[in-house]
Amino acid sequence: MSNPLWFDPSLCLIGGEWKKPASGQCLTLVNPSDGSEICQIARGNERDIDSAVQAARSARDDEWGRMTALERGRVLTRLGQLVLERVDDLAQLEAMDVGKPLTQARADAVALARYCEFYGGAADKVMGETIPYLDGYTVYTLREPHGVTGHIVPWNYPMQIIGRSVGAALAMGNACVLKPAEEACLTALAFAHLAIQAGLPPGALNVVPGLGGEAGEALSAHPGVDHISFTGSVATGALVQQAAGRNVVPVTLELGGKSPQLVFDDADLDAALPFLVNAGIQNAGQTCSASSRILVQRGVYQQIKSRMSEAYSELSVGPAMNDPRVGPLISERQKQIVNGFLEKGADLTVAGQGQIVENAPENGAYVLPTLFADVPPDHVLARDEIFGPVQVLIPFETAEEALSIANSTDYGLVASVWTRDGARQMRLAKGLQSGQVFINNYGAGGGVELPFGGVGKSGHGREKGFEALYGFSQLKTVAAYHG
Ligand code: NAD
Repeated sequence: MSNPLWFDPSLCLIGGEWKKPASGQCLTLVNPSDGSEICQIARGNERDIDSAVQAARSARDDEWGRMTALERGRVLTRLGQLVLERVDDLAQLEAMDVGKPLTQARADAVALARYCEFYGGAADKVMGETIPYLDGYTVYTLREPHGVTGHIVPWNYPMQIIGRSVGAALAMGNACVLKPAEEACLTALAFAHLAIQAGLPPGALNVVPGLGGEAGEALSAHPGVDHISFTGSVATGALVQQAAGRNVVPVTLELGGKSPQLVFDDADLDAALPFLVNAGIQNAGQTCSASSRILVQRGVYQQIKSRMSEAYSELSVGPAMNDPRVGPLISERQKQIVNGFLEKGADLTVAGQGQIVENAPENGAYVLPTLFADVPPDHVLARDEIFGPVQVLIPFETAEEALSIANSTDYGLVASVWTRDGARQMRLAKGLQSGQVFINNYGAGGGVELPFGGVGKSGHGREKGFEALYGFSQLKTVAAYHG
């Protein structure tokens, strides 16, 4: 395996060239498994963002803008192939940078390749319509790119989020400016290197690492940006929407969640159990679509509680490179936030807990995966997004009660229903206020083909699947009068 850092991580990609940031300053990237410094990355600011937006605009007016949909698709498909060839290298980078266990990091790299393949194949299949209108007219619609799209992504799933947003935007012919998270941006830079190798013309993809309050804010407020895709926290999403609103440009917000799984007495518990636990602890719970609330009908409540408790006792937490079930959190700060929530649960019953491996480095951001039982639906742990490996068990009697509890938070990203009763499945799929509903399964992350996004404070707009291609384009109506 080659050196995980096979490129200079301290540069920005602007107009096809790797450049030092205008500030001349760098930020330190920390390995959350042991607190050590990985490397220095660019501290991009508003001047770099401005250059990147201009480079993107030029790319739209130049080679990239002239490419046919078929040609764009071929570049993306080639890029997917290059990602697949470097899956292990990308996984190493992500494990080091995010603290993601190697197996999960590898799965994310494979998903990134799959996004490139999916959107590469879809690029020339987005069509308009003809519309019946008045006598003597022919009316049709065209799907056109927005122009320059801004992409602000968080640290928890850099590869998957870049794949779903940048992949779809490029497929539609937009030129992108990507601002990765300051905590984790190595795979964004690696992806950009591979994009150049794949033949993406200069300026079609620009990458400016930097702080949210500097590079991120500058990107969301830049008048030269025509669409913004933001994934991150509710508070930042609201700021990004405000800034974009001043330029009257559309925004896709992919925000947080408090996603429930509803388990009924008639469910196939053997099938449900791995999903119940894994959807809570995957990526150490730092998943927007993590299932942090498990609602269980009384008849099987004790059984689920004791089986989940047993599963928790087998969870080991350790350094990402050792590929444990649960890695560290992204940072010491995130560890303090999650431990703060665990303290707020002092009045609750702990039904299960994992363990941190004995030789875990002292400066790693490790927390104990924790399952709380008999949690009142209005408890802070049952309402707030924790973003750590913490789940709550909530008992219920009837489907109506379960639905009312499930819909009682500010969020609505993902939900699942475990029951063999087909009519109940359909009723709940309609009743759940959620962007996605899974029946007898649960999808946290993954699902390249499945439109994804939230309702309520989970955000608005849809990414993933074919639907994303509509979001990254605008519709033009052409009405021709010919008599
Ligand atoms: P965050 O909002 O702090 O940061 C996300 C990105 O926004 C980073 O790149 C950051 O630099 C940038 N940013 C910060 N301040 C900014 C500003 N003022 N203007 C513009 N950009 C700014 O979120 P986080 O802590 O990195 O991520 C955790 C949150 O993200 C959680 O709430 C989680 O649920 C959510 N999330 C949602 C999804 C989804 O698809 N719905 C996926 C992953 C994470």
